[in-house]
Order: sequence, then structure tokens, then C-alpha cells
Amino acid sequence: MALERTLCIIKPDAVENKRAGAVLAHLEDKGFSVVALKKIHMSQEVAEGFYAVHKARPFFGELVDFMRRSPVVVAVLEKENAMADYRAAMGATDPAKAEAGTLRKLFGTNVGENAVHGSDSLDNAKNEIAYFFAASEVRPTA
Ligand code: ADP
Ligand code: MG
Repeated sequence: MALERTLCIIKPDAVENKRAGAVLAHLEDKGFSVVALKKIHMSQEVAEGFYAVHKARPFFGELVDFMRRSPVVVAVLEKENAMADYRAAMGATDPAKAEAGTLRKLFGTNVGENAVHGSDSLDNAKNEIAYFFAASEVRPTA
């Protein structure tokens, strides 16, 4: 297995509920290193650009409004097999269907307000990290 990086966003619901620290602690306990971290309040343009792949989905407007409702915490996670392991740690998109002990089961509210985002491929992880972090903010990979 290779050392990988993936993008985590702690969504407005979890930040509003004061669970951002709990999410990061949960991930550190599972062996992820937080190699870059910031709290931002997304503009319409930034939120729409980030979720551009979902533009045609019926929930796109609702998703963008939710992601802009209040600040989010954006983190670059690093670990062996980080992309797939973080997807597993998040659980299913719908918290009601997520396995016990996953972040979405622990902290999510419903299929839209599900506490965390995670990249779904290594290519997307690279692009999503570059979307939120300048090269100067993230240690180069060896
Ligand atoms: P995931 O975040 O698990 O990769 P998707 O990429 O399919 O899931 O969807 C992106 C985000 O859009 C979800 O995390 C969730 O916030 C929102 N979303 C997905 N499906 C729905 C839905 N049926 N209704 C409302 N929001 C949804
Ligand atoms: Mg997705």
C-alpha cells in the first residue's frame, strides 16, 4: 500500500454542532495525519465549483446552499491507503445507512447534511486538495 493524501471537509452541520474537533480526533485515532488544515466560509462560486460534477443532480442547489450556510473545516489527510480508508471511516452517504462507528453515523443528520466530505478517487483527491490549498500550504510529497 502506498502513502496517500485525500481531502476531508467537515461540513457546516458538524461544525455548527461543535463536532469538528471530535471528527479530527476520530481520524487521528484511526491513524490519519492532518497535514494541512483551515476553516473557511465558502462563496457561492467556490461551493458551486467544488460540486460542479453534481450540477445536474436535483439536490445541487440545496447542497450548495448547505455548504455555504456557515464555515467548514478543510483538511488534507495522509496515511497508507488514505483515500479508501477515509471513505470507509466516513460511511455511506446517508447516515441512516452508514455502519455503526462511522463519522456519518456518529455525526451526520440526513443524506444532505452528512457531516463530512471525502474524495472518491486519488485523481479527485489531488484536484480537490489543489482546489482548497496552495502548493505553499502543503508539504510536497517525496
Ligand atoms: P458522497 O459525499 O458520499 O461522495 P455524493 O458524491 O453522491 O456522495 O454526493 C455529494 C453530496 O451531495 C453528499 O455528501 C450529500 O451532502 C449530498 N447529497 C447526495 N445525495 C443527496 C440527496 N439524495 N439529497 C440531498 N443531498 C444529497
Ligand atoms: Mg462524492
